[in-house]
Amino acid sequence: MQKQRTVAFHTLGCKLNFSETSTLSRLLESEGFVKKHFDDTADVYVINTCSVTDNADKECRYLVRRIQRKAPESLVVITGCYAQLKPEEIANIPGVDLVLGAAEKFNIVKHISELVKGDSTKICSCEIEEVTGFNSSYSAHDRTRTFLKVQDGCDYTCSFCTIPKARGKSRSDSIENVIRNVEEIAKTSVREIVLTGVNLGDFGKGPDGNKKNNEEFLHLLQQLDKIEGIDRYRISSIEPNLLTQEIIEFVAQSKRVMPHFHIPLQSGSDTILGLMKRRYKRDLYSEKVELIKKTMPHCSIGVDVIVGFPGETDEYFKETFDFLHSLDVSYLHVFTYSERPDTSALNLKPVVPIHVRNERNKKLRNLSFMKLQYFTQQHVGSNRKVLFEIFEKDGMMEGYTDNYIRISTSYKKEWANEIIDWRV
Ligand code: SF4
Repeated sequence: MQKQRTVAFHTLGCKLNFSETSTLSRLLESEGFVKKHFDDTADVYVINTCSVTDNADKECRYLVRRIQRKAPESLVVITGCYAQLKPEEIANIPGVDLVLGAAEKFNIVKHISELVKGDSTKICSCEIEEVTGFNSSYSAHDRTRTFLKVQDGCDYTCSFCTIPKARGKSRSDSIENVIRNVEEIAKTSVREIVLTGVNLGDFGKGPDGNKKNNEEFLHLLQQLDKIEGIDRYRISSIEPNLLTQEIIEFVAQSKRVMPHFHIPLQSGSDTILGLMKRRYKRDLYSEKVELIKKTMPHCSIGVDVIVGFPGETDEYFKETFDFLHSLDVSYLHVFTYSERPDTSALNLKPVVPIHVRNERNKKLRNLSFMKLQYFTQQHVGSNRKVLFEIFEKDGMMEGYTDNYIRISTSYKKEWANEIIDWRV
């Protein structure tokens, strides 16, 4: 009898990568591969890389070295954003057998079947402009929640960002296909779906990047809201200029789309927003926050912000701090700017010293802590619905309210994967 081949995965980066790794895993498992933990010995190792991580190349080298020490005869496949951006650089890492760019990653089964250990490293990658098509993906490591990719790529040109070069132009799934996937997911124990994409609000462009059938993100939400079997949807992140009044009003009356938005701001200074080539000014951002809070006072709002962008003087940073301080938002995700090859921000001056970037990061993280405490305090004593996760750790279990307050309590088996009325 032929021995079954084994495969192990390691994912770096965002939720989109995690959902795609799950799909790659399903593709290989349907071909008879048995999935192993990354720390175990496997015949094939797949590393799904990220270009946003500071040390993508270092991390990748480290992981390949680990595999080589443990299983020198195994095949090593590198895919993901970093593989698209720097295929040659990756191919030069000793021990790598195959580099799969954005267009080829979902043909992984075919590529692995043609691979022989010891041959020279194979690069299967094309120019990002040639990448078309949409591969739907959803994550499968959690029985309560799944991340469903409905959109990929981005047509924006933010000056700090390499994602459009790694993932190509904006493309989406059709609403019909998303519904099909959601109906599949609804047959499992999953209760919550996080809609994921690179630029979700730009949903509606077909696999070739053109808008054909007038589908919009709002239409997607309206259709998903009707499907039985899924209790909750969350919108992973949406650009402020694409978050329309109609979307906000729809979420406010929906039973299934949760009162929770994550809206990238990046800077509270109009000058820096201009240098970043963002498509809004801060007034638009505060208008959106005000509209959300007027329509749903209990809504949670998370904010992405970058500190230390070139040209961010003390004064501009203070503008960002004061702006965020005044905004009725619930928490911040703070990123420290770091230089990325092939981005136009590299030409901007003056560069902010690293220690200043770190100090600013700390200041905003402290602000985030206070914002979160304040938001949570506002809801103490109120009744909210909590979806508890299945995991037990040290006798405790955790879950989120509809408006994204994390609840931790003693483990009760009958609450696992259930929605419970909760007094915060
Ligand atoms: S909107 Fe800007 S930051 Fe976001 S993926 Fe597109 S280019 Fe990058």
